[in-house]
Amino acid sequence: DDISTFSNAPSKDKFIGGLLSDEFDEDSCKSRYNSMLFTNSSPHKPSSYLIQRLRKYEKLHKKCGPNTEHYNKAIDDLKSGNKNNNEQSECKYLINQPNSGLGNRMITLVSCFLYAILSNRVLLTQSGMDMSDLFCEPFPLSSWLLPLDFPHNHLHHLSFGNMVRDSTRNSTTNYAFLDLSHGSNHYDKLFFCDEYHHGFIDNITWIKTQSNQYFLPAFFLMPSYKQELDLLFPEKDTVFHHLGRYLFHPTNSVWGLITRYYSSYLAHAEQRLGVQIRVFDPAMSIFLNEKTPSELVLEQIISCALKEDLLPNVTVSVKNITRSTRSKSVLITSLSSEFFDKIKNMYWEKATVDGEIISVYQPSHEEHQQTEKSSHDMKALAEMYLLSYSNVLMTSSLSTFGYVAQSLGGMKPWILSRPDKYKVLHGVPCTRDLSMEPCYHAPPTFDCEAKKDTDLGLVVPHVKHCEDVDNGLKLV
Ligand code: GDP
Repeated sequence: DDISTFSNAPSKDKFIGGLLSDEFDEDSCKSRYNSMLFTNSSPHKPSSYLIQRLRKYEKLHKKCGPNTEHYNKAIDDLKSGNKNNNEQSECKYLINQPNSGLGNRMITLVSCFLYAILSNRVLLTQSGMDMSDLFCEPFPLSSWLLPLDFPHNHLHHLSFGNMVRDSTRNSTTNYAFLDLSHGSNHYDKLFFCDEYHHGFIDNITWIKTQSNQYFLPAFFLMPSYKQELDLLFPEKDTVFHHLGRYLFHPTNSVWGLITRYYSSYLAHAEQRLGVQIRVFDPAMSIFLNEKTPSELVLEQIISCALKEDLLPNVTVSVKNITRSTRSKSVLITSLSSEFFDKIKNMYWEKATVDGEIISVYQPSHEEHQQTEKSSHDMKALAEMYLLSYSNVLMTSSLSTFGYVAQSLGGMKPWILSRPDKYKVLHGVPCTRDLSMEPCYHAPPTFDCEAKKDTDLGLVVPHVKHCEDVDNGLKLV
């Protein structure tokens, strides 16, 4: 049997509770209807309203997507600057211009997609990295890739933030650039104030956005979207879990990496612990006095695993291994192999106190980030999926790579404290995340109604500050 398809697992829910359309050819993208193969079905079900809205979105995308009559007309209008005053076009677009590593790109795409649904826009993404090597098309009978002949040179440098700052908005504008990246300024972030949507943003046919952020928690602070978001997501902390599993389907090549690795190394364990290690700034060692960042991170991983009972301790006494001995596999992902070597040796050189067998694996060690190199990004994507099939997850603070794995897998991870804070906190190696959702690292701080800065982590019960980024915001 072909392990990469569902054929021998008929009881699994291949359309994920109706989340996925049944309009696709299965062979061209084996992961689409098989992503649940290695995981128990999620306890979180998509709402029937979300399913309805996805089907409605798919219709809109098919009607307005690349190379349709509507798309061609909207492009002609963009080139000629035509715009009917104050009238909304039937087809409006949100172009995503990718930026940063793969995890950042994925959290941004999910945020853009939610905005596309909320504002009835069609999401198109530039294929900066080779998107088609990584992901299958998510929308039936159409494409989410911005055509290569898109007339970028007809876009004027009209940014939303500048138009608001300089009061230069006018009703004939049919294009705006929206900066929602980590470096966006106060005026750019006024995008999250209701008053600029009705009658302004909503009338603009083409919006192009650049971001590397999970900006969607901010929509949950906007009164105008409240009713719709309550219907779409009765469980607020499942937005990425549902939209991510709806949008992302690894191509057959990436699915091959995932299924071969899983079957070879992970399938037989009774328990799977995923450990995602990302060491951001070696220069942080100035905070750490005597230890190097790697030494400190290793110490944190072990002490978190022992303290939270994720792994057993080792002992010098001799233990018998019997057929009934429990086995646990540890999947490590990291750019370097040093943590893997040390943890693997720890469980080779000594027995565990409870006789449990610990196998340690790491699929790759790419040494440094090589974003947009297709074979490198394919491995990164495969590793995010493999991590998502864990039973328990330990992740690194601040890393969007870990966010993707935790939300796809529906897990609240143990987050390793930032190494500099670990020192200050006198040894709390990790804390449990508040929810499976990613964190919006650089959110707005402005109360749109009161017109002053405020603590947006205190406004509604389901938007709180993140465990790993004090000023960040996340859905809980
Ligand atoms: P972040 O920088 O941790 O938020 O995550 P991103 O995914 O946005 O960027 C990091 C990039 O570095 C990834 O996309 C990979 O290209 C690479 N990378 C980082 N950690 C790993 C890892 O554990 N495995 C692999 N294969 N690549 C990694």
